[in-house]
Amino acid sequence: MNVLVTGGAGYIGSHACKALKEAGFTPVTIDNLSRGNRWSVKYGPFYKADIRDEKKVLSIIKKYSVKAVMHFAAYAYVGESVKDPALYYENNVVGTLALLNTLKKTKVRQFVFSSTCATYGVPESIPIEESTPQKPINPYGHTKLIMEQALKDYAAAYGFKVISLRYFNAAGADPDLEIGEAHLPETHLIPLVIEANLKRKKPVTIMGDDYQTADGTCIRDYVHVSDLAKAHVLALKKIKTAEPGFIAYNLATGVGTSVKEIISAVDSYTGRSTPLQTGPRRPGDPPTLMASGNLARKEFGWHPDFALKEIIATAIEWHKKLGSK
Ligand code: UDP
Repeated sequence: MNVLVTGGAGYIGSHACKALKEAGFTPVTIDNLSRGNRWSVKYGPFYKADIRDEKKVLSIIKKYSVKAVMHFAAYAYVGESVKDPALYYENNVVGTLALLNTLKKTKVRQFVFSSTCATYGVPESIPIEESTPQKPINPYGHTKLIMEQALKDYAAAYGFKVISLRYFNAAGADPDLEIGEAHLPETHLIPLVIEANLKRKKPVTIMGDDYQTADGTCIRDYVHVSDLAKAHVLALKKIKTAEPGFIAYNLATGVGTSVKEIISAVDSYTGRSTPLQTGPRRPGDPPTLMASGNLARKEFGWHPDFALKEIIATAIEWHKKLGSK
């Protein structure tokens, strides 16, 4: 079965392509390469195109008899979304609507959507459940929540079968080191800590150490990117036999890790200490985001295989490989 993967050249999308291929599907990537990397498309055909290009999307769907779509193509930096929300509304909302309206003209109704824990904002309780009220506190979270709502309406009216996967913090790299994280600019904590630790050129900034958490730094639920990828394949299998509708799952491990704990984990793997400085809080950052992931376990048998130690190990080994390319 052929699956259209938008944003398949991106970090999570490329790992999903690998998981799809390993499960016997053919991932057909479309990516405009505004953020993705051509080299990370290794597991199926590639088309450099924008999701708003209706003609191109229709021709790919026809050529490959596409049966399902995994939609990763989006911008995903909290800080950038606060500074330049227009980018986020244009790409994540207008782009996704264009894609859905194109699909509406075809028979393709199976749709796996990349959503985020950023849709919860500052949650009323931890661990976050799928039923926890979604009140985003940054434009990135708003754009993803708006699209979840649109997908519910499209499912009801046009028969789409949607699984929305709300990612917690994607981290780590493919254990075979074929692909991994390579953002430009990089804003994510783990690659920045690794860069500072290995290169020792610039210190990493702890963005706020005065949060109401045990060590004062933000707590996140880091999930290995290959575990996220695996969840997409399981979700796709579930969708195949599902009735039209919309359902969302948190992809999380139930383990919360603070910024300082991430830094210690990197230090203990490399045996050297990361140069640090403390800065102000980053606007749009909730203090704690963590969830059990129990619903995904219960309803489609998803179990994360990788713990924090392996997340850090694969991220560091990938970083070394990327640096030596
Ligand atoms: N963070 C930090 N310094 C950095 C980058 C991130 O202290 O240079 C913190 C950030 O404030 C957040 C956590 O690390 O609490 C994870 O941030 P990241 O950007 O990796 O992921 P996000 O949670 O925004 O998706």
